[in-house]
Amino acid sequence: MKKVVKFGGSSLADSHQFEKVANIIHSDPSRVYVIPSAPGKRFPADTKVTDLLIKSYNTAVSGQDPTPVVDEIRARYQEIIDGLSLSISLDEEFETILNFLKGDDLYLDYIASRGEYLNGRLMAAYLGFEFIDPYEVIFFNEEGNLNTYKTDKMMSARLAEVPQAVIPGFYGHGKDDRVKTFSRGGSDVTGSIVAANAKADIYENWTDVSGFLVADPRIVKNPVPIHTITYRELRELSYMGASVLHEDAIFPVRTKGIPINIKNTNRPQDEGTWIVESTARKPAYTITGIAGKKGFCATLITKDMMNSEIGFGRKVLQAYEENNISFEHMPSGIDTMTIVVHESEFLEKEQQVVSAIHRLAQPDNVEIESDLALIAVVGRGMKSQRGTAARIFSALAHARVNVRMIDQGSSELNIIIGVANEDFETAIRAIYDIFVLTKL
Ligand code: ASP
Repeated sequence: MKKVVKFGGSSLADSHQFEKVANIIHSDPSRVYVIPSAPGKRFPADTKVTDLLIKSYNTAVSGQDPTPVVDEIRARYQEIIDGLSLSISLDEEFETILNFLKGDDLYLDYIASRGEYLNGRLMAAYLGFEFIDPYEVIFFNEEGNLNTYKTDKMMSARLAEVPQAVIPGFYGHGKDDRVKTFSRGGSDVTGSIVAANAKADIYENWTDVSGFLVADPRIVKNPVPIHTITYRELRELSYMGASVLHEDAIFPVRTKGIPINIKNTNRPQDEGTWIVESTARKPAYTITGIAGKKGFCATLITKDMMNSEIGFGRKVLQAYEENNISFEHMPSGIDTMTIVVHESEFLEKEQQVVSAIHRLAQPDNVEIESDLALIAVVGRGMKSQRGTAARIFSALAHARVNVRMIDQGSSELNIIIGVANEDFETAIRAIYDIFVLTKL
């Protein structure tokens, strides 16, 4: 058994958290490759080290002295060194960072990556594991995307030589031999790449929550956790705003059939959530999860006999394409179709879009509705259950929520419901209650 373990920023925010992490690693000898993030928040109003690094960069670029911010960062690491009684000094490293900030070849990715780099150095010293710099094993191509071929080759060769290692998350080797980072939260991606190349049995992703919850805890009080979720379900939920894992983190492990286990560093006894390719395990409820977002806008296009007009849909979509707007959903009826887009993208260009629809498709009528929230009710269990949609709609009717749009994908993995922004929270609670509390 081989496990790759990634620890998020809050799991490594101070020396006390480092101790918890070391206990977790030492309690299971199969945890052989460790991917640390940079120190995160110790309390809600705290600042992540990555954000402090970005601040130091901005300070330097604006011509001011970055030393005070760098000192703040230094103090975060010194607390960890002192708290764990490590005999390591980062003085030289900070010297290099300061020189870099004051030098002519300053660029952001290098500075932003130092949070993970330094935390990796401390973690390797503390665990007595070898340190592998991702600069040597993770490569990006000219366009800035991951060079999977080269990364897999270099990473797997290196891991084969080193039985236990700490590999910092978030960055690698970019164009012109510069350091390049993934987008924010990218240590999840590093962990996934390491897991795939180590041929791990499990990729454990340690954070500060015990996995995914059926609904957002800011909306539903004490929502139940999700035990097992498939990659496809997760994709639907993440797209709709459920964020625990970086979106790109599933791809490397998915192709290798390696499950991801989301775990809580502060409650290691909790099983957390399993993210898997496929499962025979029945979901605990008909639905796996509910997620949603506000701020959409729907354009309703009506034309008599639309159903028999070949190419009508294409012409309408062309109006969006011409204006460089991507659409989210497209429910349609016999003589109507609705195009749902992000309001923020649409507002500026709405009149151009409407006139383009008229010019290209000659509809009878075009009507715009704004302030729409979309809710995705996701679950692999829905297709084998009769009456799921009926239950959702009767719950919403009971809660006096007016449903303004319905879209069910043919995969029957999700039902998307459009409601007014102001009904968003009420609708989510009503759906949660009907499936989870009354366990229908
Ligand atoms: N430290 C980086 C961030 O704050 C990357 C990560 O934590 O995964 O985004």
